[in-house]
Amino acid sequence: MKEIIVATGNQNKVREIREMLPGYRVRTVDEVCPGLEIIENGKTFEENAVIKARTVCDQVNRLTLADDSGLVIDYLNGEPGIYSARYLGHDTPYEEKNRIILERMRAARGMARSARFICAIAIAWPDGRNEVFRGVFEGRIAEMPAGEGGFGYDPIFYVPEFGMTAAEMSPARKNACSHRGRALRSVAEHLGL
Ligand code: IMP
Repeated sequence: MKEIIVATGNQNKVREIREMLPGYRVRTVDEVCPGLEIIENGKTFEENAVIKARTVCDQVNRLTLADDSGLVIDYLNGEPGIYSARYLGHDTPYEEKNRIILERMRAARGMARSARFICAIAIAWPDGRNEVFRGVFEGRIAEMPAGEGGFGYDPIFYVPEFGMTAAEMSPARKNACSHRGRALRSVAEHLGL
């Protein structure tokens, strides 16, 4: 069976990737290279995804996949963007981060609340090639948080097409239209799955 190393410790992502890449034995970086430190100093989602995938691939010499994602809010000049995980403090609960974002968005009406989740997935090959795929999930910042599902910024990410926030979507529905789902499907297609 072909093998792919996933450069993340996030079990939710690992599960999603396993589901999307049938025919591949998906192993995590912790299994093959525990304790590896990766410095994510790229300026874009794509750069960070490549840095992660390439760093691991160079260590283990096997096909490696890495993703980098975040929320881009137009009214906040693209924030939190590539800093989504550490925005307003790495350990600040998302309830608090989301509350602060809504406060900063108070004056924004209608289309001024446009936002998108972006996901870049890089695959790094042992022969030195890197390939990057991007998925975008368009929406807008809700007036109030809603929903218990998902994680992170999902409760304040409203998807007009479905009339609900990402936190109100079932996992299957979110996967079908999310940034990560789209990028992963492109990878799967590229790998001939
Ligand atoms: P990373 O790609 O693991 O570095 O995560 C980036 C950050 O973006 C996460 O910690 C969340 O804050 C945010 N994020 C990325 N994807 C999602 C999503 O699907 N829902 C909510 N927040 C997300």
